[in-house]
Parts: sequence; structure tokens; C-alpha cells
Amino acid sequence: MDTSCLHSIVVAPSFLERMHEHARNAAPQECCGVLGGRGSVVTSVYPLTNDLHSCSEYFANPQEFFNAVRSMREKNEEMIGIYHSHPTGPAEPSKMDAERNFYPGLFYLIISLADEATRSLCYVMESDKTFHSVPIV
Ligand SMILES: [Zn+2]
Repeated sequence: MDTSCLHSIVVAPSFLERMHEHARNAAPQECCGVLGGRGSVVTSVYPLTNDLHSCSEYFANPQEFFNAVRSMREKNEEMIGIYHSHPTGPAEPSKMDAERNFYPGLFYLIISLADEATRSLCYVMESDKTFHSVPIV
């Protein structure tokens, strides 16, 4: 997949705060969700339940995921990204993240709660499973 057009992701501060809140509320477990949008612009945030209720991995509830995709279709959005949190680790993709990311070409936003300030970094995974970071603007 050609990911060269994914140079940056546009996330309104209110959307970013919504994800950060989700991450803080779910801690010490990881949170997850999907991002609806157009091109590289996020137009909706869909928080999903982490069915694993784990501090180190996540799996989105399939029914909620299905509902989110249906809402996107109704709103003429596409799924442009996935987000999840690292309650104690850095905002970098883990080895498991690379292994379990089945969606190359999507934005991959990671929220870190390791420091006092909640922080997010965004990546795009190439088809060879390497990540390159893209600025959140
Ligand atoms: Zn992760």
C-alpha cells in the first residue's frame, strides 16, 4: 500500500483530549479506539472497550467496532486510524503492536501515560511492518 500521502494527521485538540481522557479513565489498563475521518483529517473519535482488560495489550470489542464502522459509513467517513494507550510505557509501537497491526496504511496513534503529562505520538505502518512517525497537527 502506498502510504506516501500520509505525512501528518490533523487532530482537533478536543478530539485529542477525548482520547487522553479515555486513556486516563482506563488506566492501569490499555484503552483503544478508532478514528473516523477524511484523508488525514480526523472527524470522529470512537472509544472502544478493551475486551482483554489488560495493562499490556488490547483487543477492541468486535460489536463496538462494528457499530463504529457503521456510524462512519452513515457519516461518510472512513476509518483512517486506530489509537491505544501505553499506561506505563513510551508512546512508541511495541513489538506486539507491529505483530498485531493488521491495518498497514492507517494512522496509528499511541497515548503514553508514563509521564506526568499525557502525550501522544502518531505513526503509519508500512507493509514491511516498520513504523514511521508522523506529526499530529
Ligand atoms: Zn501498544
